Amino acid sequence: IGLYNPMLGLVLVGGPLTGFALFGIPRVAINFTLCLFLLFVIVSLSISGKIEYAPLFKADPVTKLYQSSYWILSVVGASVPFVTTMFVFTLVLLGRLQFREAQMHARAVTDALTGLSNRRALFEQLEYEMARARRTDSPLSVCLLDLDYFKKINDSHGHAAGDAVLCAVADLLRENLRDTDRIGRIGGEEFLLVLPDTDRAGARTVIERCQQSFRAHRVTVAGLSSPLRFTASFGIACMEQDVELEEALLVARADEALYIAKEQGRDCIAFWGTAQSSPLPEGA
Ligand code: GH3
Ligand code: MG
Ligand code: MG
Repeated sequence: IGLYNPMLGLVLVGGPLTGFALFGIPRVAINFTLCLFLLFVIVSLSISGKIEYAPLFKADPVTKLYQSSYWILSVVGASVPFVTTMFVFTLVLLGRLQFREAQMHARAVTDALTGLSNRRALFEQLEYEMARARRTDSPLSVCLLDLDYFKKINDSHGHAAGDAVLCAVADLLRENLRDTDRIGRIGGEEFLLVLPDTDRAGARTVIERCQQSFRAHRVTVAGLSSPLRFTASFGIACMEQDVELEEALLVARADEALYIAKEQGRDCIAFWGTAQSSPLPEGA
């Protein structure tokens, strides 16, 4: 079809690109080299006068005209399906690439066991919610919760039972919190809840609801005769007037409150900065 035929350009560029997507680099590289060699041979023969230049498109086989509708229609007829295939391939490949990117992003921000946000994602969400609360001058509470004697559940019934409890906790939290609240698993059996537009009284209501749902819930584990019960301790810190509060400090306050809840016998709720809060011991 000749060196100056647009179809040749399309095939030389599009062929390898499509090939890379379908067959991998080595096969395409070998075949492309062979094709180039063949092309070089044909061009050499054509230059040396041994064969005609572009014998297929030299002239219309019927009218013998050099610029004929046969020539033009052949090129268009061959290019359209080829270009369409290339176009569709590129779209499909791009779609797959975007899907994989979205999948990787989801994995980077999600806790694999519970499907909740992981530590990094939750702290980003907390930063955003605190900035928003400052901007709109609205209250915000955070709650750190830690399952009670969780090691015992693992030790007595196995890791799978522990995992089942963690999943149950995630489900109960999702059920009991608002859609606008943020829930994350930030450690083994520690969860952080970010409650926007929630003051101290609101936080108490919602966390008491969670506490009740934990107490009432039973986790059925395959191979265990009786379902498992579990409880958690909750430490709450609120951002109401202290506008300049840092994210890390608010979480540290919730952590102090959690420590107090554990000290008070577990399965209970403690607020940072309230009268019943005892000071932290040295080095805690
Ligand atoms: P406390 O009431 O003082 O919180 O006691 P605890 O036993 O819950 O506390 P501790 O921090 O000593 O134990 C946490 C345990 O959580 C340790 C580990 O066995 C368990 N754990 C951490 N991550 C996972 C997990 O992904 N799956 C399971 N099944 N267990 C986990
Ligand atoms: Mg813990
Ligand atoms: Mg614990």
